Amino acid sequence: MTPRGLTLVLVAALAVAWPWLPEFTITLLCYIGLYSMVAAGLVMLTGVGGMTSFGQAAFVGVGAYATAWVCTSPDLAAVLGGAIGPVGLPWLGLLLGLLLAAVVAWALGAITLKLSGHYLPLCTIAWGLSIYFLFGNLELLGGQTGTGGLPPLVLGGVSLAEPRALGPVIWATLLLGLWALHNLLDSREGRAIRALKGGRVMAESMGVDTAAYRVKIFVLAALLAALSGWFYAHLQRFVNPTPFNLNIGIEYLFMAVVGGAGHLWGAVLGAALVTLLKSRLQDVLPQLLGSSGNFEVIAFGLLMLVVLHRFADGMWPTLAAFSHRFLRPARKAELRDSQPLPNPQLPPAGEVLLRTNEASRRFGGLVAVNAVDLDVVAGEVHALIGPNGAGKSTFFNMVSGVIDPSAGVVSLMGKDMTGQPARAYAALGLGRTFQHVRLLGQRSVLDNVALGAHRRGRRGWLASMLRLDRVEEGALLAHARRQIERCGLTPHVDAPAGSLSLGKQRAIEIARALAGQPSLLLLDEPAAGLRHLEKVALAKLLAQLRAEGLGILVVEHDMEFVMNLADRITVLEFGTVIARGTPAQVQADPRVLDAYLGGADEPLEAAA
Ligand code: ADP
Ligand code: MG
Repeated sequence: MTPRGLTLVLVAALAVAWPWLPEFTITLLCYIGLYSMVAAGLVMLTGVGGMTSFGQAAFVGVGAYATAWVCTSPDLAAVLGGAIGPVGLPWLGLLLGLLLAAVVAWALGAITLKLSGHYLPLCTIAWGLSIYFLFGNLELLGGQTGTGGLPPLVLGGVSLAEPRALGPVIWATLLLGLWALHNLLDSREGRAIRALKGGRVMAESMGVDTAAYRVKIFVLAALLAALSGWFYAHLQRFVNPTPFNLNIGIEYLFMAVVGGAGHLWGAVLGAALVTLLKSRLQDVLPQLLGSSGNFEVIAFGLLMLVVLHRFADGMWPTLAAFSHRFLRPARKAELRDSQPLPNPQLPPAGEVLLRTNEASRRFGGLVAVNAVDLDVVAGEVHALIGPNGAGKSTFFNMVSGVIDPSAGVVSLMGKDMTGQPARAYAALGLGRTFQHVRLLGQRSVLDNVALGAHRRGRRGWLASMLRLDRVEEGALLAHARRQIERCGLTPHVDAPAGSLSLGKQRAIEIARALAGQPSLLLLDEPAAGLRHLEKVALAKLLAQLRAEGLGILVVEHDMEFVMNLADRITVLEFGTVIARGTPAQVQADPRVLDAYLGGADEPLEAAA
């Protein structure tokens, strides 16, 4: 049986048993379903996107209170004048709740998500606290006592007043949501979301607008929480502020983390574990201790500590590994390359792709790069060399949009790039690798390389969730596979990138850059850490790319590698160009010899 088969069997078994389950179990299952929705949003946000929110309970509250207000407010009833009856009002409430949650999440996200570090978690704590007190203090929402008398949901003429009737709708919604999220993660957009964890610079260099993606996932998680709140309100038919306070927000985070924040099913597992555990503790502890009190909070906290210590990635990976013993792994449907990506026209050989004009960069009093003029044309390998600390990496970052020049101009394909982000460079056909390899180590080689083709696709979140992106996805993956083959990585296509040698990882970075079909390739120390044969293979690949018409700028330490490969060389020392020309000219230049012999770690003779 495959995992999907097992899921279907379990769902079917639950459906068959449903009418005979005791009332208490039904109620618990309803809550587990509701909590799973919130936790699934947190999995997307925390485990996949690398952001933390303590404020999800407040978004649940927004969903619950929105519908409570819509359904019970006499003012609104007067305005509507009976145009919408008690059957329609909850749906209006759902609309309002989702809208409010989206607006708040978008605003919070827009304010904090561009800032790195702890701003978002802190902001969600502030938001969680303030909305809780707002619920408690607004007379309009019933203050601390809350609002009662909500109508039950009615679907197709059937009243869903009882948990036994509402539960299947909750679970169907949850399963549908999980399916959509699973599809989203298994798409071009999913790769972009995962790339957020690989760091802003890497993701932006692949053409991903990281700020926009972060806001979008934050809004998505808030919508899931609000949806859960809406169901909650109509399950309880009553709302008060307590279930939406900061404690509960932290509990939701627990669910995601305990279950396994990197896995969608971890959300369901975590919600089930936490809910069952709490309900058991509330029964057992007072009997054990002989007195009542909130002991379960303490026991719960201690248990969480143990679980997190034992299962750092949550329980789901352990459960999944165990299930592999008797489950057949799901075979991924091989997508067809029915509509190959168009090949963009490369600029003619000799055309200037990149040019810097007196580009300088200061760090405080230090001039790291001093008025450097350099150009790279199509069909050449241009090497930038120099001793350690010469300013090579700083120059590299300047011409790839990671940092701005303090003075001077960088132009790409004839366009002045002042103030442009790295993804604008990618859009103009610049592909790059990193001196310190930046891959998603747990993802497959194919996944990593396909991220490089991000800009070649168009399909958005909704299309991905609904699996309407399969033709495009097939083309993207086939394109990625071709780059993998080009770089000699085909035997490793499904291996996790982090499991390969450094040399192979550097090759993955080149394949990823090529997947964007760049006309200019920037390589920061591509030969560092490579074995001799790997270097030979790399040189061969670069020579082939040059023959195909790419322009390549390579920063490199390895002299032999550079001298055999480069058409032109520029030598930097203390941020200033001290020589430029063909390998032969540069090798003969006395100033270069000086720079390399005076305290250099790699004398030129080694290469000559
Ligand atoms: P290279 O790559 O040639 O070894 P770098 O470009 O990394 O040299 O560094 C050039 C100089 O700029 C060094 O003196 C380095 O200490 C300094 N430098 C680089 N980045 C920064 C930074 N972010 N802040 C301050 N100084 C920096
Ligand atoms: Mg460097």
